[in-house]
Amino acid sequence: MSDKAKILIIHTGGTIGMKKSSEGYVPDPDFPRKIEADIQAIKDDQIPEVKVIALKELLDSSNMTPSDWNTIAGAVYENKDGFDGFIILHGTDTMAFTASALAFMLNINKPVIITGSQIPYQILRNDARENLITALMISNMICRDPFIPEVLIYFDNKLLRGCRCTKVDATHFAAFDSPNYPHLAEIGVDFNFLKQTELNIKFNREAINTPGLAAANAGQASVVNFLTEPPRGEEYNVGVIRLFPGISARYAKEILKPPLKGLILQAYGVGNGPTRDKNPKLYDVIKRAIDEQNMVIVSVTQCLKGTVIPGDYATSLPVIPGYDMTLEAALAKLYYLLYTEPDLEKVKKMMLVNLKGELTRN
Ligand code: ASP
Repeated sequence: MSDKAKILIIHTGGTIGMKKSSEGYVPDPDFPRKIEADIQAIKDDQIPEVKVIALKELLDSSNMTPSDWNTIAGAVYENKDGFDGFIILHGTDTMAFTASALAFMLNINKPVIITGSQIPYQILRNDARENLITALMISNMICRDPFIPEVLIYFDNKLLRGCRCTKVDATHFAAFDSPNYPHLAEIGVDFNFLKQTELNIKFNREAINTPGLAAANAGQASVVNFLTEPPRGEEYNVGVIRLFPGISARYAKEILKPPLKGLILQAYGVGNGPTRDKNPKLYDVIKRAIDEQNMVIVSVTQCLKGTVIPGDYATSLPVIPGYDMTLEAALAKLYYLLYTEPDLEKVKKMMLVNLKGELTRN
């Protein structure tokens, strides 16, 4: 590798590349050309060599579906041999979902940084330029030293593990955090990375046989295209229920129907839910979905920080504990496992295993 890394920027849409229209902010098709010219005009050794490409359709990330994750992962994978690392420009609304999904899909042993902004690049006062320039500088470093070959989010001076992130602020620049995992780097006057030994993802041995990871462990790069758009009129087979006071068993029963195969339950506190309701009980509806429909139901906490502790209370729900996974990571992992692993017993087991640094378990 020459001194400067070679980075591919993949623009997918989002505020960073938007312009004002009569209907509000919309993606600007000229944005990829503008930033390519702007970056190439910078003469500084800390800025890598770049090429910018864009998805055919630029999207507000609120419009993204899992099949867009396939498109993005595919664009990275096709270019894996020609570049040292990747920057994905993406809307903030579903950025943490995409980061989590890509973490499971891609095994390329190269850094992939996702960034965006709260104010467009083209508005005079913005956070877009800082996020882009610093992401470029970081990508130039982390192809080598410190080597961080994983899917990351860089936003507002923090470099975060992608599958640990969540959007924590809709209007301030510090839009992302990883409440259950240390920041991989904090950027101020200096770039302060965690020690290399702390940066390495500690894989669980059981993770080795999961689709994609098996190839990666055999020294091959891989991409797992785990989703296609369901046929018209059909739905993806995963869902989410967030518990709330007053939730009825009937409400949950409506959701726990085919084609649903897996559900993330955002439970209270350490994994609790109502057990005092009657005829029917939510607890029984959940238990029946597991026992009779073989549904994969995984709990995560509604709290921003902390972990599910199974059996800690009598109100603990009888489901697979997602421990300290974010909702975004748990959902992406469920999609990934359900679409790649036909054996549901294995899916249930793998939900408990730390595959890509998304879960704290020894
Ligand atoms: N709605 C925008 C998006 O997610 C918000 C943003 O980028 O900040 O694409």
